[in-house]
Amino acid sequence: MGAKRKITCQNFLEEMSDYIDGSLEEQVRVSIEAHLAKCPNCWVVFDETRKTVEIFQSMECKPLPEEVKDRLLAALEQNWKKA
Ligand SMILES: [Zn+2]
Repeated sequence: MGAKRKITCQNFLEEMSDYIDGSLEEQVRVSIEAHLAKCPNCWVVFDETRKTVEIFQSMECKPLPEEVKDRLLAALEQNWKKA
């Protein structure tokens, strides 16, 4: 249990799409979930992204477009500035 990774908000954003895809290693996934549990900003972004991904996936089998990712990232940065 000693090698648990500390996840920052930046790490979370980098790993989020893999997390949603379910393609992360167990250890990283656990760290991501621990971060989500205590970081409301990341939770909001994750929740929005997951919904967006589900909509995209139900329409066509396409990955999340970069433009959508950028928009979510910008929204998160706005949140941080407000905090
Ligand atoms: Zn965070």
